[in-house]
Amino acid sequence: EVGEIAQGLGYKAYIVGGVVRDILLGKEVWDLDFVVEGDAIELAERLASRYKVKTHPFPEFGTAHLKVGTLKLEFATARRETYSRPGAYPKVERASLKEDLVRRDFTINAMAISVNPESFGTLIDYFGGVRDLKDKIIRVLHPVSFIEDPVRILRALRFAGRLGFKCSKSTERLLKQAVNLGLLEEAPTGRIMNEIRLALREDRILEILSLYRKFKVLEHIIKGFNWTQNLEDKLVSLKKVTDWHSLEFPSERIDYGWVFLMVILSTIKPDVSMKFLQDVSAPSWVRESMESLYTTLNIIKGNLQKAERNSEIYKLLKGVHLSLLLILMSCREVQDKVKLFLERLRFVKVPPEAVREMKERGLEGRELGEEIEKLKERLMDEEKSFIMERP
Ligand code: ATP
Repeated sequence: EVGEIAQGLGYKAYIVGGVVRDILLGKEVWDLDFVVEGDAIELAERLASRYKVKTHPFPEFGTAHLKVGTLKLEFATARRETYSRPGAYPKVERASLKEDLVRRDFTINAMAISVNPESFGTLIDYFGGVRDLKDKIIRVLHPVSFIEDPVRILRALRFAGRLGFKCSKSTERLLKQAVNLGLLEEAPTGRIMNEIRLALREDRILEILSLYRKFKVLEHIIKGFNWTQNLEDKLVSLKKVTDWHSLEFPSERIDYGWVFLMVILSTIKPDVSMKFLQDVSAPSWVRESMESLYTTLNIIKGNLQKAERNSEIYKLLKGVHLSLLLILMSCREVQDKVKLFLERLRFVKVPPEAVREMKERGLEGRELGEEIEKLKERLMDEEKSFIMERP
């Protein structure tokens, strides 16, 4: 359809970039990026009127996006970009498809598929993307790529981690050089932080973090940060816990990436760490939990180690944010106790007849609540199996 409209307007349209990579990898894609040799906004508007949907045009960028059912389509006029300084937002001019592709980051992200009827489905691969996809290689298109845009350093490691790919020898060398030149410090904080947020959303976050370690990138992004084996062990253990939690309690899933970041930041000074959370626009639960991590987590952990009765465990852990529970559970010393709390203690319920009896005794409001809690604690200490209500 897009191709027909493009043809009618005398334009050429292509699916481009990461979408082509994902299509070739056999992934389902819902976001399609098109590059148009011609006026992308005009093409988008024609398509929109055919499907009776709205377009959102951005004339200053020559782009427009629209939604058709569950598909998100983005149209961009083919363009050339020049960077005034490393990492800056680029200056944009109209250009051919090839010029549009050559400004991209890696060979696997720089392919296109034609959608015009006469060449529908033809793959355009100027830089050897297909071969690199097959060989599992991340390769920049030219030697100054990382200097032009240092955010690509992090993107390279994110794709390598996500896909289980390696950087080519020369890309690896260029990447190391760019890191050593301190380019990550020079890039705009907002773009770096955006990339960090994307990395935290990845399933294979451990692989990405271990590439971050190998290439020493976080040292350049988080002031005063240093990798240790202890930290890496903690992260590995946290991953097991978050995998367990997301399987066991799917309805309680949270964005676990933030919890990994919390553990990383727990190794540096609180003020630096809180500033970082602000820069990366962490949600409020992350900031609040991070505060408690510094102030109370070690105390809770110490008391938990000493706790013997179920009710003690319960009292220590109730009201503690899930992110902190997961962090605690990744500490071997208290793992079993936190697990017991998450799986059972927090769901202990007092029998309804006991509540009725309390009400008959005239208890209400806070008093009633306290009495119920007391009974709960007695039940979990006395009985082998207690009544639970699990969502
Ligand atoms: P994801 O699967 O994470 O969304 P993606 O490759 O689709 O990956 P986007 O950030 O949506 O990532 O970018 C779309 C395309 O734009 C990329 O595939 C790449 O061709 C190009 N691109 C994005 N960021 C850069 C950059 N910093 N430098 C060069 N090209 C880029």
